[in-house]
Amino acid sequence: MAAPFRLKATSASPGVASGPAYIVEPLVAAASPPSSLSGHVELGDAIKTAIHELQSLATGTDPESSDIIEFQIEVLQDPTLTEMAGARIDAGENVAFAWVGTLDGYIRELECSEEDQMRARAVDIVDIKNRVLSVLTGTQLDDFPAGSIYVGRDMEPSRFLAHDWSAGGGIALYAGSAVGHVALLARSRSIPMVIGAGQFTTEGGRHIGVDGDSGAVVLQAAKENATPAQVNHPVTSMPPPADNGSLRTADGSRVLLSVNVNAPDEVDSIPAATIAGIGLMRSEFAVTSLGDAANEEKQFAIYRRLLDWADGRAVTIRMLDIGGDKPLAGLTEASSLRGVRLLLARPEIASVQARALLRAAIFGNLRVMLPMVTFPSDVDNIRQIFREESTELARRGVPHSIPPIGMMVEVPAAALMLDRFESADFFSFGTNDLAQYLVASAREDADFAVYQDRAVPAVLRLLSHAVKLARAKPVSICGDMAGDPSRTADLLAAGIYHFSVAPTRLPAIRSAIVGLNADGTKAAGE
Ligand code: PEP
Ligand code: MG
Repeated sequence: MAAPFRLKATSASPGVASGPAYIVEPLVAAASPPSSLSGHVELGDAIKTAIHELQSLATGTDPESSDIIEFQIEVLQDPTLTEMAGARIDAGENVAFAWVGTLDGYIRELECSEEDQMRARAVDIVDIKNRVLSVLTGTQLDDFPAGSIYVGRDMEPSRFLAHDWSAGGGIALYAGSAVGHVALLARSRSIPMVIGAGQFTTEGGRHIGVDGDSGAVVLQAAKENATPAQVNHPVTSMPPPADNGSLRTADGSRVLLSVNVNAPDEVDSIPAATIAGIGLMRSEFAVTSLGDAANEEKQFAIYRRLLDWADGRAVTIRMLDIGGDKPLAGLTEASSLRGVRLLLARPEIASVQARALLRAAIFGNLRVMLPMVTFPSDVDNIRQIFREESTELARRGVPHSIPPIGMMVEVPAAALMLDRFESADFFSFGTNDLAQYLVASAREDADFAVYQDRAVPAVLRLLSHAVKLARAKPVSICGDMAGDPSRTADLLAAGIYHFSVAPTRLPAIRSAIVGLNADGTKAAGE
């Protein structure tokens, strides 16, 4: 066995792991949009599968249940529905949205019927809508064995999220970015990750190591010599002050500490009483396909779960920040459209999410945040979608409420004009994107970290200017800068007193805050 050798790479998430290499094929370019013909076939197949599922459910049930199932099967066999959905597919709509749009129309008709019996049928149609939708959207990216080291050029956030990391493992990328979304996820879950290793050769299944502390891939690490795969410890090891995330600076000013979460189960290891709430929930990491984007019930369940956990604390759900470097599987939109621009270009996606959020809002302290806002009209237009959906829900008698709607401040043009965003209820600074757009370098670029570092004074100057423009509206920061204790003093000096950070960053930021005065100067004796 040759001696292990270390291949220089760049750390993207600290920690050390080893395990059998899982080598992925290079990512292929996004498939061309499905032809409308394949949309018809896909829908026909999904309906057939749903009918089979219902038939097997019907076997052996009581006569009452079997009557309901019979009715559902009859509806599914009715060619009118397929024809209506087919017309929407022909008009260019994605198959999942075509199905949902058709069935929603039918459900609305039933709900508004004068006859009790017809109104009672609506729930059966909701059920079959979701059954077919889950067949249509059941496709997942291939997972890889638990405990292995993922090796490839890049990794999709949805693949990261679908994987079970409880057995350890790590990530070694030939290219990649330390400020990309997978790196961000890896840091928040303490998964060792290196990037920029260059293309290297190893056999699939052979043990390799990832050293995320010093930035290296350890090749030819014999299995018997391998460091055991790192098992990640939940964040509960941090001191649990039951302070609801409210801290005092050394001179007594109040500072709030919230968390950023990417998937609903991340909150399970965080005692809610130690934080002010969720300052940023990146919904695009929980809603990872077009099918999910069309699935109001799935989204409602996710938001509701977070609100239940938060027990009255604020839960800030960011609407889908999809597009650009966060493509949504199945969506073939111009890559220049991202965040709120894409939501406004595809209002059917925004409407489904708005409905799920409106319905969830009655279960706690929900706040909706808009990604990549550039102009005041972006907020006005989304607010209009919430109003329309609220009117529709009210007409159908569905309980809901309109939550506060705020915005990410991550596009320089918005940061400079914050006083013009009258219809935004609150602001949260996204310094990751703010930095990339300030220095004209993409987060995915290998040398972005260097530019990002050099841009810190410009980012801070912009933040302090924008805080003044925000006037009395609540401001917070949820970009990575918030979780870096070496920047806490500068952020306090800029007038920011609410930090939302990855759960693993909470202890460091807590200690930094208590050692500083409200103006960012060091406390006496520090
Ligand atoms: C940011 O841009 O700082 C931010 C928090 O959003 P994301 O990292 O998800 O783009
Ligand atoms: Mg951003």
